[in-house]
Amino acid sequence: MHQHYNNVKKMQLFSSNFKLGVLGGGQLGKMLLYDAKRYDLHTKVMDSNNEAPCAKIADEFIVGDITNYNDVIDFGNKVDVITVEIEKINTEALLELEKRGKKVYPSAKALQIIQNKSDQKQFYKKNNLPTSRFSNYSNLDELKSRFKKDNFKFPFVWKSSKFGYDGKGVKIIKSPDDLNFSYKNQCLIEELVEIKKELSVIVSRNVQGDIKCFPIVEMEFNDKSNLVEYVMCPANISDDIEKRANEIAKKTSEKFNMVGLLAVELFLTKDDDILINEVAPRPHNSGHHTIECCMTSQFDQHLRSILNLSLGETDLIIPGIMVNLVGENMIEGNVIYKNINDIFDIPGVFVHIYGKKKSRLNRKMGHITIVNKDINKAIEIGKKIKRKIKVIS
Ligand code: ADP
Repeated sequence: MHQHYNNVKKMQLFSSNFKLGVLGGGQLGKMLLYDAKRYDLHTKVMDSNNEAPCAKIADEFIVGDITNYNDVIDFGNKVDVITVEIEKINTEALLELEKRGKKVYPSAKALQIIQNKSDQKQFYKKNNLPTSRFSNYSNLDELKSRFKKDNFKFPFVWKSSKFGYDGKGVKIIKSPDDLNFSYKNQCLIEELVEIKKELSVIVSRNVQGDIKCFPIVEMEFNDKSNLVEYVMCPANISDDIEKRANEIAKKTSEKFNMVGLLAVELFLTKDDDILINEVAPRPHNSGHHTIECCMTSQFDQHLRSILNLSLGETDLIIPGIMVNLVGENMIEGNVIYKNINDIFDIPGVFVHIYGKKKSRLNRKMGHITIVNKDINKAIEIGKKIKRKIKVIS
């Protein structure tokens, strides 16, 4: 470990031949690149879409498939440190790159576990991390024949183990009728948690194991799309809940042996228990406000972590709310941000447009952060802005 760490420390990073590789070229990558540019780090990004948000910003942009073994190997061979902005990466290739001595953060092992919700839940159980009771199955037929024996009663939550995102692959099962669909792959069920609030803690850990949490946020989801609609910082929670949530987040990062960011999504239950819902080993939608609201942004912190620099201060400078701009048009078409020019006279408003030319239903196109010394005022403005702007084609 120490040898490894020393090598990173000795390497000349800025304005040098050092190359940071990023797998995935979406908006999370784009915002990571802004901070990389500020440091004059050389970046190389791979995404299958030649118009991905990173395409025009990366020093080198490679069109390639991040789920393909050979593409990831070829890419990884040409950079010094590899990181990701999305989980769906070919982890066999990352394992092989690690064997060849490449620095891969997050590790292939952590990514492998996180890619599979059944494995994630098993990991929490094994490591005594709090999560809702669950049961894993290899397919839906097995689930139907066993869930009663496993002591599950309606209602409960069904999830596909792999390939779900933004609420796709999650169903609330209220009666046997709701199990009348076909699913041939691995899946799981969880107890339906009585949720008071959904919280997120972004925690970052560098190569030498220093660890820091960002202020906890509260997330509000859209009922229909299951997408995060608002992220509010700070969360309206007691000191005791804050302390327990931070401890859980840090322990989770340490158990995964994470290097880089880990977004830990939590449920605060009606009884004030804290349960882990799921984690993401990368910059996260619940951390965009850190750009304006915190001493260090999540993107800067991720770079510091994976390059083994000291972590930045995470203190809140000013409260804020982040509003996602998602496509509302049913049919894909050239994007229009209706009424967006009209919000620039509102104080404390920061507009982020990701640069996707085409809008479609529920596609994340941009976000707006509204800061205000009074969080309630920020929330009021945020909700007004959300109603005003329409992302259409
Ligand atoms: P995704 O990975 O697609 O975002 P999640 O597993 O985070 O899916 O679930 C999406 C949403 O469904 C959560 O944000 C939460 O509102 C709800 N949910 C998920 N699991 C449970 C549960 N066990 N009990 C109650 N609600 C849940």
